[in-house]
Amino acid sequence: MSNWYKLDSVEVLKKLDTHPNQGLSLSEAEQRLKEYGFNELTKNPGENIWQMFWKQLTAVIVLILIVAAAISLALGYYIDACAILTIVVFNSFLGVWQEYQASQAIAALEKLAVSMVKVHRGKKVREISARMLVPGDIVLLETGNLVSADYRLLESFNLRIQEASLTGESDPRDKQAQMSVQGDLPIADRLNMAYMGTTITYGRGLGVVTETGNKTELGQIATAIQTVKPQPTPLEQRLDQLGVRLAMIILLIVAIIFTLGLLRGEELSFMFLAAVSLAVAAVPEGLPAVVTIALALGAQRMFKQRALIRKLPAVETLGSVTVICSDKTGTLTENRMTVILLSVVGHQVNLTNPLRSSALGLNSYEDSWPVLKEQAILNLLLIGGLLCNDAILEADPTIPHQFHTVGDPTEGALVVVAARYGLRKTSLEKAFPRVAEIPFDPERKLMSTVHSITKASRDFNETLESIDFAALGLAESSHLVFTKGEVVGLLSICDQVWVNGKIEPIKKTWQEKILRDNDRLAQDGMRVLGVACRPLNIPDDSIDLKSLEQNLIFLGIIGMIDPIRPEVKEAIETCQTAGIRPVMITGDHPLTAQHIAQELGIEFSDRFLTGQELEQLSQEELENQVDQVSVYARVSPKHKLNIIKALQKRGEIVSMTGDGVNDAPALKQADIGIAMGITGTDVAKEAADMMLLDDNFATIIAAIKEGRVIYDNIRKFIRYTLTGNAGELWVILLAPFLGMPLPLIPVQILWINLLADGLLALALSVEPAERQIMKRRPHHPNESIFSRGVGRDIIWVGLLLGIVLLAVAYNYWSSNLPNWQTMVFTTLAFSRIALAETMRSGRYSLFQIGLLSNKPMLAAVALTFSLQMAVIYVPILQHVFKTTPLSVRDLVICLALSIFVFFAMELSKWLMRRS
Ligand code: ATP
Repeated sequence: MSNWYKLDSVEVLKKLDTHPNQGLSLSEAEQRLKEYGFNELTKNPGENIWQMFWKQLTAVIVLILIVAAAISLALGYYIDACAILTIVVFNSFLGVWQEYQASQAIAALEKLAVSMVKVHRGKKVREISARMLVPGDIVLLETGNLVSADYRLLESFNLRIQEASLTGESDPRDKQAQMSVQGDLPIADRLNMAYMGTTITYGRGLGVVTETGNKTELGQIATAIQTVKPQPTPLEQRLDQLGVRLAMIILLIVAIIFTLGLLRGEELSFMFLAAVSLAVAAVPEGLPAVVTIALALGAQRMFKQRALIRKLPAVETLGSVTVICSDKTGTLTENRMTVILLSVVGHQVNLTNPLRSSALGLNSYEDSWPVLKEQAILNLLLIGGLLCNDAILEADPTIPHQFHTVGDPTEGALVVVAARYGLRKTSLEKAFPRVAEIPFDPERKLMSTVHSITKASRDFNETLESIDFAALGLAESSHLVFTKGEVVGLLSICDQVWVNGKIEPIKKTWQEKILRDNDRLAQDGMRVLGVACRPLNIPDDSIDLKSLEQNLIFLGIIGMIDPIRPEVKEAIETCQTAGIRPVMITGDHPLTAQHIAQELGIEFSDRFLTGQELEQLSQEELENQVDQVSVYARVSPKHKLNIIKALQKRGEIVSMTGDGVNDAPALKQADIGIAMGITGTDVAKEAADMMLLDDNFATIIAAIKEGRVIYDNIRKFIRYTLTGNAGELWVILLAPFLGMPLPLIPVQILWINLLADGLLALALSVEPAERQIMKRRPHHPNESIFSRGVGRDIIWVGLLLGIVLLAVAYNYWSSNLPNWQTMVFTTLAFSRIALAETMRSGRYSLFQIGLLSNKPMLAAVALTFSLQMAVIYVPILQHVFKTTPLSVRDLVICLALSIFVFFAMELSKWLMRRS
């Protein structure tokens, strides 16, 4: 049914048989999940195994091989035809297996990225995966949430929803739960509904799920969401281009070999097969696929380190990051706020921190808290902090007298400190019900709530004697406004101050004292909040939110500490040795930021820019300063965008963290946008390339390290396969010049490439991190794949391998030994094993990195060696691969030659290390 908006909320609740405060019972929710299914849109199932297999078999390269097999068959080379086909099938299996692994890894990561929703279920507020929503669920809506199903709104407080995905309209609409509707309305005008796929940009509310999955409006428009084919990553694109270029060169070489062969009188059919196999063997057709697999499996490893990749190219870019812009609260610090200082004009109470854990044992700690002699004076400050607040104190079900806070930790700290002094939020909220609010917003750095004053408030107050109604001039007031937030901004909208239980006009000297106190606390690394109030005498329905925050009475300031995350200091150090500059961007006071930056050892922490200063700077001026500034304080999300653009203009590769709705543009602009997994809004997560599951700065560093490892390993793969291919090309290219026939036959080349590029090279992609990996500068994303020695090694090691093979071939062939081709074949196989081992590092010797540090490589080596032995000594395989058994002496010669190639590479690494 799509007419939910026409019913009033009572009817909707009745129809859906649910309760607005308690929600569905757990069993009912389970029952409905069975009935309605998961709340998800039908997706195209993607490719199945057979389709993947078919794709492999119809790839151009494979088709050429199949044609080659067919021609061999026609020419009577039955065994060759079968061998080629078998190898093609094996190769395809390997390809399918790799692709399947990659797609599974990506699908698993996608599942993990499903957003969570807060619902009332079984009389409690629970956080569940959006997939589990069923009609009748009561959902809590908060700024930054994605709307995960269709909801009929039950409550709305300044609720604004951006519905572009449904209506195309990018300006958010104000929603009104109470709106009653006659007749039909287009979606854009149904103000009492929230639809799947839209986002909450402001305010909060409550809704009941009316439709889920394909029955939602979004589901009706697009019943089958096409799985978007992932775009190739920059590295994949570059390798694609490289592949095409190499293919051209190789085809040219093949044409030369083909012509030379014919001129020498080789059989046309044989030369044709040789040319085809050589081309197929030498073209690095597997390169882009390897990148996808390396990235997908890398993303899986990053997940184990608590970094969830949302966009695959991010894995690649991570290794190139040169600047990490990070929030402070929660990322560098624990976001475990504890109030340690209360200050009203003339009175200051230092509450030396008795809380060490986030769990609050009210009884157990009560004694260690100082008794507040000034409680009467401080009460109003505490109450303001408590009422202008969305956090709650919840009892821990497992430990008696233990409580924890739910909600924003800054607000949680205020609830805790008030509870310490006997002020409980639930009772106060009953006595002073909230009737309107302006939510906290990082641009204004303020939050206000309006509370009505009723007889119940006065009765409550009399028993508690918490607020001096007469002194505050509340006797005739209908409402009391509380505003809390950043001190300087708050002070600018106050014209009175609360001094010794009385209101006074705010004098300059008071203002200066308050600002001095504010700076002093910030200098000690504290987060500082001011609280103010204002009595109002107007009816509920004439409250004007726009003119609320003015003529306030300044009540006092609250200082809280937030411990630094213990692991961050080391992470910052690693970051700096890795040539990456950490930059702190915070909404907090510059002195707070500076204190923490210095404690963490962030370079240039003495230079900072504030939001206000940023406003004054042109983009060019900012570009001239970004290199020297590592602390940005009192900034709002919009400044982040300018900072990133300036850094990028300076050639930096920037990662940026964010959690709020307004951070989305910055997250998109950054080379790597990182959203907070715990405190981040859905909007930020959607915009980000990566999510920190633990909100921890150290996790960014772990992910960057992983990114570097993956990039390194892709380069190792390339170095290794292309060197081998080059060696094979050289021997085949040069042999005719010495008057020899082809030293390797097609099926032998295919076999070697199946083992080397399929088994050994794959083991290179799981090579562990090199020891200096975080001690070198990041690579530039546009750096050539062949830089830093890769191209050089491909040329000279490839040539060396070719010459070694040629020497064996010539020696044995000129002595008329029948096993001359088997010698070349086996020397090549052993050399490729040896090269795989030495190319595990482009810099360190195998003996430094340790033979045992890559177990899959050991297995691949053992398997390759055994298979090669089988090919030489098992009679039926001898027939297929045209081999002759080698004597022990010959085998030792093959081994010795491969060891020679190995040491040549080791020597070049040694020379490089020395230089
Ligand atoms: P960081 O970048 O370090 O994570 P932030 O940018 O998230 O910090 P904000 O949360 O925007 O910082 O806080 C900036 C300032 O706003 C704080 O110093 C504080 O004075 C004030 N503030 C923070 N939270 C609240 C709140 N819930 N209500 C009112 N004011 C707040």
